[in-house]
Amino acid sequence: MYDVAIIGGGPGGYASALYAHNFGLSVALIEKDTVGGTCLVRGCIPAKTWLQTAEVFATVAEAAEFGVESSSPNLNWQVALARKQKVVDGLVRGLAGLLKARKVDVIDGYGRLVEGGVEVSNDGETQMIEARNVIVATGSVPSSIPGYAIDGERIVTSNEALDWEHQPRRVAIIGGGVIGCEFASILSDVGSEVYLFEALDQILPGTEPDVVKVLARTFKKKGVKVHTNTMVGPAEITAEGVKVPFGDEAVTVDVVLVAVGRGPVTEDIGLEEAGIETDRGYIHVDLATMMTSKPGVYAVGDIVAGTPQLAHSGFAEGIAAVTHIATGVAAPVDFKAIPLVVYTHPEVASVGLTEAQAIEAGKDVVVTDHGMRGVGRAIIQGQTGGTVKVVAEKDGPIIGASVAGPGAGEMIHELMYAVGWEALPEEAAAFIHAHPTISEAIGETLLSAAGTSLH
Ligand code: NAD
Repeated sequence: MYDVAIIGGGPGGYASALYAHNFGLSVALIEKDTVGGTCLVRGCIPAKTWLQTAEVFATVAEAAEFGVESSSPNLNWQVALARKQKVVDGLVRGLAGLLKARKVDVIDGYGRLVEGGVEVSNDGETQMIEARNVIVATGSVPSSIPGYAIDGERIVTSNEALDWEHQPRRVAIIGGGVIGCEFASILSDVGSEVYLFEALDQILPGTEPDVVKVLARTFKKKGVKVHTNTMVGPAEITAEGVKVPFGDEAVTVDVVLVAVGRGPVTEDIGLEEAGIETDRGYIHVDLATMMTSKPGVYAVGDIVAGTPQLAHSGFAEGIAAVTHIATGVAAPVDFKAIPLVVYTHPEVASVGLTEAQAIEAGKDVVVTDHGMRGVGRAIIQGQTGGTVKVVAEKDGPIIGASVAGPGAGEMIHELMYAVGWEALPEEAAAFIHAHPTISEAIGETLLSAAGTSLH
């Protein structure tokens, strides 16, 4: 009898398994594929590896501006693809080693929640894994829309796109969310023709509009044809490629990437039989403990109703679930301070509330921003298009922040502490940023938020 059986070896599941060692809990981790899940195998890690290739390509392409002359870069797609796979395989191997070192029993097969534990089937054989507690962490899969049946060749999701054998020359991306924008960034950096269709009125809906503008401007400069407020009609496979109609127009491309969100993997894992409450496939949990409506059964990661579909949110939820299992004490995740990073070129990162979300929540806010046009380090790097925006309550703490620009995904973490610790602008502004750094733009924004400014 294990203390914990975990169904799913992605970020939510493997973080739960690793963290359990802090309490000396015995753990079985059930995985039907390889440990690592979407994040390591077909999500964050491979996507960011492609983004890195694209960034190196773009840096070389723009090198002459810095006085570094070379012939124009050529992308060897096969080498980049092999490097992506090497990075993924290395991290998967490392994770498997870490699980072994922590004495987690990794069980190969398909897990289904049953009374007293998890039933695991593999190649027609079933075995019962008895456990005092179960954590369900089965993750999510890409969704699609009518008229865009995924065939893996002409109409694909990020799963297939990360393994494209050749660079597609003309690509239509449906959905201007995180995945859509990251792929638009990769492909436009390396010279593909990109059309990006977003149903709502801006790309990255829900993100601070001023910060999104920085990315939208860069996309425009790189020739990405962004169509917001646009619904596409059904795709048509023709001799020339795939025809994507929209309004009175249509574009023909080599491949369509559908990036309209991800849905939970919760069918046929025994939830209904166990009487666990769900909402359109997402599992309801008590957010303080991550426990479902059935005592002893927890859910973490992309399948949880109302929490972000982010690997690091999954890690945190796993930690909360294991802490509750081991100690009986609730250790809730601070969801208000979870950063979101979009790894486009330039990066867009945010934490807490946007100005619009704060106003909608009835808060009286003070909003300050600082562009990177005059920031020495940004000028040195030749990337002055960025901006920082900080939202604070009037006479109160910082409740949200957004950054666009080089290194935004790293810089957002100082603002994460400000939001998490509910720092007052004057408290955060009291510290001095090193010069010359891009982070000085944050220092300047905080000074303005405190009612004083320098540059
Ligand atoms: P998303 O929800 O971020 O974006 C989907 C976009 O598609 C939305 O902007 C939506 O308005 C649009 N859309 C939906 N239907 C449409 C239609 N018919 N026509 C045009 N546009 C349409 O989802 P995603 O980009 O697929 O990503 C899935 C999840 O994975 C998200 O929760 C995301 O946060 C997460 N993710 C995170 C990262 C990261 O943190 N860097 C990277 C990749 C994915």
